[in-house]
Order: sequence, then structure tokens, then C-alpha cells
Amino acid sequence: MPSEFSGKHVTVAGLGVSGVPAAKVLHGLGAHVTVVNDGADERARTQAAELEALGVTVRLGDGTASDSGSAAGLPEGTELIVTAPGWKPTKPLFTAAEQAGVPVWGDVELAWRLRGHGGRKAAPWLAVTGTNGKTTTVQMLASILAAAGLRTAAVGNIGVSLLDAVTGDTEYDVLAVELSSYQLHWAPSPRAHSAVVLNLAADHLDWHGSMEAYAADKGRVYEGNQVACVYNAADRATEDLVRAADVEEGCRAVGFTLGTPGPSQLGVVEGLLVDRAFVEDRHKNAQELAEVSDVNPPAPHNIANALAAAALARAYGVPAAAVRDGLRAFTPDAHRIAHVADVDGVAYVDDSKATNTHAAEASLAAYEPVVWIAGGLAKGATFDELVAGAAKRLRGAVLIGADRALIREALARHAPEVPVVDLDRTDTGAMPQAVREARRLAEPGDTVLLAPACASMDMFTNYNKRGDAFAEAVRELGA
Ligand code: ADP
Repeated sequence: MPSEFSGKHVTVAGLGVSGVPAAKVLHGLGAHVTVVNDGADERARTQAAELEALGVTVRLGDGTASDSGSAAGLPEGTELIVTAPGWKPTKPLFTAAEQAGVPVWGDVELAWRLRGHGGRKAAPWLAVTGTNGKTTTVQMLASILAAAGLRTAAVGNIGVSLLDAVTGDTEYDVLAVELSSYQLHWAPSPRAHSAVVLNLAADHLDWHGSMEAYAADKGRVYEGNQVACVYNAADRATEDLVRAADVEEGCRAVGFTLGTPGPSQLGVVEGLLVDRAFVEDRHKNAQELAEVSDVNPPAPHNIANALAAAALARAYGVPAAAVRDGLRAFTPDAHRIAHVADVDGVAYVDDSKATNTHAAEASLAAYEPVVWIAGGLAKGATFDELVAGAAKRLRGAVLIGADRALIREALARHAPEVPVVDLDRTDTGAMPQAVREARRLAEPGDTVLLAPACASMDMFTNYNKRGDAFAEAVRELGA
């Protein structure tokens, strides 16, 4: 079938999770596709061979896609670039595109434009972004939608490609879409049914250039919303983004709060999640949705995630009982405040996914007293605010990893009475030692929490491996 892409010269920038499906889809729609990729390692060569067999041109490591210097320029005749979301906007390839008036789309933009293609049903999007909690919220949302009997999936920045969901054979009623700030940057057109920015804290600023640019990219998720822009009543910046957004006539601003909800909010009253937004006469009425104990685990930030997911589902018209059933059916992904074991009356909790200070702040707030295992690669972060906020909850701290001195100094400044064990090692034996030291500091009733506030790559392949090492060390304690 002819499409707007038939005969069009499209350059796909970057192989990998989004580039390969994008190249295949565009090729299938009759475009002349050239893929450019900076690296030429074995994985890239295998992917290139697969695409070349289909008739796609692939240019590996020829400088076209490099970060700096004199790029080889746009491939001849390029009319459109479809880029991998993580590629920095400062790449010479994009400057060349701008000069030539060639549009640059990310995978999300392409997916949006292909909705409804080939006679498929164009499922509306319920979109989730924010600095932390995206994956958890989008999975809770999908679970709630499924409990309501809707055909749905959690897609986007969570391993399931949005492009596959939009162009594949499975039909969906509605999609729960996780969007990163990078993906939003490259996606000017998507118009979600409803969307949420969960929270906003400094992250990825090297990529976006400034906090303002980062916030503006996140705020794009609200553009053109039809039914509800959901914001975090405890995070003013998210509400400001709603105010700045250009939405459809009649679209409402709906807040979520861990306190008692006002009209047009969802919140918590006496152990219940309550909706005062999607009810008849919201000035007088409220609808009970679920019990706080239905949220797994019921840590404050996770209750906030559940409220955000519930708000999007309610905006879509899901009944209260499905919110409860969906939350009960939800189990979090590994390494997100996962309870590993109790040993001698002490709980051991793995929040290895707390790779930045904002996330660690949330998980530390859920436990008291807590022995905190922290450290790794700080990625330019400072720890004063985090440590000052958590000081009174800390029984002790055990520090690991390359940038642990930064945390040690913050502890000395804001929590000088808290005992600190500084492990001067970054080898694989460091984690078992850290767990033993934490056990020594902990008393019955305490929680030992791995919430590193740092990336893991100085000691581990990724945060999964770090969490696995922690869990393994805890099991050895109990053995
Ligand atoms: P993301 O997809 O945004 O990285 P995840 O759901 O994977 O988010 O959670 C990552 C980490 O962020 C969790 O392990 C937890 O420490 C923290 N976190 C989760 N939800 C929130 C929240 N609402 N506010 C702050 N921190 C959160």
C-alpha cells in the first residue's frame, strides 16, 4: 500500500533498540532507508547484516554519526532523519539537518505518525514521564487497565517498543506509554489522551543543557492532552508545566497528593486511596478506590505512583473496582524497594534502582531507623540535601564505590553523630563486606536499605547486578 514514506529518503540515526525496528518499518513502507551508526562493534555488524539483507543501506563508523569534528554530513538526498532517542541534539548530523531544513524525529514521533496505519485501530495513549517512578507507574497503570478488561500493554521506554506496539498485529484499546525526556525531546506531535509528570528533579542535565530545557522536554507530554493533565501536588514544577501546556478544550488539571485530596485531586484519607476528581459533584463527593495496603510495597513514593496511575485510569473511565484489582495484581520489577529477607529481626531491602539522589530520598523516607548502604558513581550529584533530610532516620551508613567520599563528607556536615563505615574497595567482595558491616550497625526492628543514590558501573555491570550481589550477601548472612 502506498504511504507518505513511499520513495522517501530516510536516514535512521543509530542502530539498537529503536533504530532496527524503525529501519524495518520504514523499509516496509517503501522508504529508501540509510542507517548511520557511530560504532562498528560485533553487535552493530550483526544488526547491519540483518538490515542489509533486507535491502537497507547501513553506514557503520564512517563519521556521519560522530559526536564531534567534521561529520561526513547528511547522506545524499536525506528528506527525514529518525533518530535514536539518546542521541544528543548537539551532534553535527543534526546541525546539518537543521541547515538543510530536514526534520528530525525520534522513535516516538514515528510511532505516533504510524498510529492507525494499515487500517489498525489507533489506540489512545496514557503517557507517563517524570524523573523517577515511570516504570513502576506505567506498569501499575497497565495492570489497572487490564483489570478493567481492556486490551493494553506497558510500552515505550521500558523495553517494549512503542513502534512495535503501534505497527504489530496485536490490537490494543489503549496503551500505557512510558516516555523519557529524550524521547519527548524528539517528539513534537504526540497528543496523549491524558498524561502525568510524576516529579521533576535535576537529572540528565548534561544532555538537555539546562534544568529549563529538561523541564520543557518533560512538559511536552501534556501538549494537546484531551482529558486530563495529571500533576504531583507536592511538586510545584509539575503543576507549572500543566499551566504552560496548550491542551484540548475541556482538558482538566488533576492533582495527586499523599494528603487529603481537594476537589479535582486524588489522595489518601484514613488508609484509603480516594478520588475527588472523576466523580459526580467533586465538591461534595469522593470515591474510594483502594486501600493503601493494596499498593505493593506501600512506601510513600509508591503510593504516589499508584495515585498517578489511578488518575490516568480514571481519566480513561475505568471503574473504581478495577483500580483496586489492578493494584493488587501488580508486582514491582526487581531491585525497586524489594524486600529480600529478615535476618535477626532486621529487614533487608534492595533499592538498587535508586541511582540518583531524588530516588534515594524517596526510599529513605519509607524506613526508620535505617542503615543505609550507598555510593557508586555520583554523575555530578551533590548529597547535602539528601543527607540533611534523612539524617534523623539513619542508624548508620556503609559507603561503597568510587564517589563515596562525597557522601561521607555530606554525612560529616549534616549527620556527624551517625556512625559511618567507609569501605575502601570497589572489587566484587565489597558488597558482602558492606552487608556484614550493615548488620553490625543494625538493631532489631531496623531496616538495612541499599539505596545507592549513584550509578553502579564503577563496581557492577548495571544496577541489576548490584542488587543481585546485595541479595546474595544477605542470603549468606542468614545461612
Ligand atoms: P524510572 O522508570 O523513572 O527510573 P522506576 O519505577 O524504575 O522509575 O523507579 C526507580 C527508582 O526511583 C525506584 O527504585 C525508587 O527508588 C525511586 N522512585 C520510584 N518512584 C518514585 C517517586 N514517585 N518519587 C521518587 N522516587 C521514586
